[in-house]
Amino acid sequence: MAQEIKTVREQIAWSYANLARADKALQDGAKKYVMIHHMIRAKLNKGLREQTMSMASLYQDERLKMTVPQACYYCGSTSKLSVDHLIPRIKGGADESDNLIWACRSCNSSKRDRDMLRWMFDKESFPSILLLRRYLKIVMRYCESNNLLDLKLEEAQKQDLPFDLSILPHNYPPLTELTLWVYPEEEG
Ligand SMILES: [Zn+2]
Repeated sequence: MAQEIKTVREQIAWSYANLARADKALQDGAKKYVMIHHMIRAKLNKGLREQTMSMASLYQDERLKMTVPQACYYCGSTSKLSVDHLIPRIKGGADESDNLIWACRSCNSSKRDRDMLRWMFDKESFPSILLLRRYLKIVMRYCESNNLLDLKLEEAQKQDLPFDLSILPHNYPPLTELTLWVYPEEEG
């Protein structure tokens, strides 16, 4: 059933709920969604919309340590790495650890000053699920601390936000085209 989305909170909730469904399915090694995955999505969406579940309760939910081994978070390359911001500083992205990632020179120069999601969509790609999870958490935290969650989506978009709320994904690619995480490429 199509979700009616009016507020920033509803927009984020539906995107995150779809992310959680994809995450669980990939962790299960599933090729297709089954009932449990749909239930996870429904539960999260309802909880976040009705605020029986707080967004803050999701901030610590990081299932994969993303620090080792060092590799580009976008393509897995292990050469010529530098620190990149998921949401660029120039757009208002913070220097907080969630916003900082490793990127190779090639990805870095392709991305330039776009935020991660815009860049991915511009090149008709889709981020790994765990990278997107991190991105969504930054968006959640920003919207929560700036009291944007209950604003109408179109009102919020008139503000100069560091990210574009309208592109938060609701329709995810099929599971067979999604990756949980981009693992480092083999050496040599
Ligand atoms: Zn790369």
